[in-house]
Amino acid sequence: MEKLSNPQVTIDIIKKYNFAFQKRFGQNFLIDAHVINKIVAAADITKDDIVLEIGPGIGTMTQYLAEAAGHVYAVEIDKNLLPVLDETLSEYDNVTVVNNDILKVDIRELVSDREVKVVANLPYYITTPIIMGLFENHIPASSITVMVQKEVAMRMQAGPGSKDYGALSLAVQYYAKPYIVANVPPNCFMPRPNVGSAVIRLTKHEKPPVEVEDEALMFRLIRASFNQRRKTLQNGIHNAANLSFSKEHVVDALNALGLPESVRGEALTLEQFAALANELKKEE
Ligand code: SAM
Repeated sequence: MEKLSNPQVTIDIIKKYNFAFQKRFGQNFLIDAHVINKIVAAADITKDDIVLEIGPGIGTMTQYLAEAAGHVYAVEIDKNLLPVLDETLSEYDNVTVVNNDILKVDIRELVSDREVKVVANLPYYITTPIIMGLFENHIPASSITVMVQKEVAMRMQAGPGSKDYGALSLAVQYYAKPYIVANVPPNCFMPRPNVGSAVIRLTKHEKPPVEVEDEALMFRLIRASFNQRRKTLQNGIHNAANLSFSKEHVVDALNALGLPESVRGEALTLEQFAALANELKKEE
């Protein structure tokens, strides 16, 4: 069978199964072999690898992943796609399709705790919960290579001082090294999304780049200081319902780190957030 990356093959299969695209599932299927090859190359997939694909759709990228990888686990929420996948993946004996919501799957159990490479053209409406879920649940993923909305890719890669810098940048960079592989225009998908897209590879750190005693506290501080962007970090922390440090306490910690009392969250590096969490913890 000719591959689905040929737009006519995709059109034919969609007609054959009378498939109706579901907006609520973020269904924009790839129809560009060049882009798929780029994703698979950036993910550096070999026959020794187990791949977790989130949202295979009609199986367009899955066909390429199955050819490159040892085994592919593909988790798809839309049960209407199951008969389609049955046909489009019938030539491959190394693909396991799971009909479930990726946010509800016990991924460790699915892959028997083996290391995986995550590859996906993500449904954009849940990009952040998916990525944060993979990190926070310590899924054994050595890398995550995904198509996301272009703005989101820029936020993941941004550093202090950039307008895109925020809680997502810090969370992603605590766990991984981001690298934008390619920008992808809407005409590479069917139907075309209203936004630009980008492929980003997140290579998991062997160990976090900063030492922090209380990870959860650091992330609460990060969220608090970006919740109210125009406010000082001191006020952000003070107003956060899930933090209970007095103003003096925060000022003392900022002084100890040599930071001005008026500093804003967007000026702090990951190292400085870690140091602030450690300092506040010390004075607790
Ligand atoms: N991989 C296919 C491709 O590149 O052509 C489809 C990508 S499409 C952007 C996103 C896919 O994720 C859709 O097939 C959609 O049904 C599926 N999806 C949406 N929400 C999901 C969820 N919570 N869990 C698993 N799959 C989901």
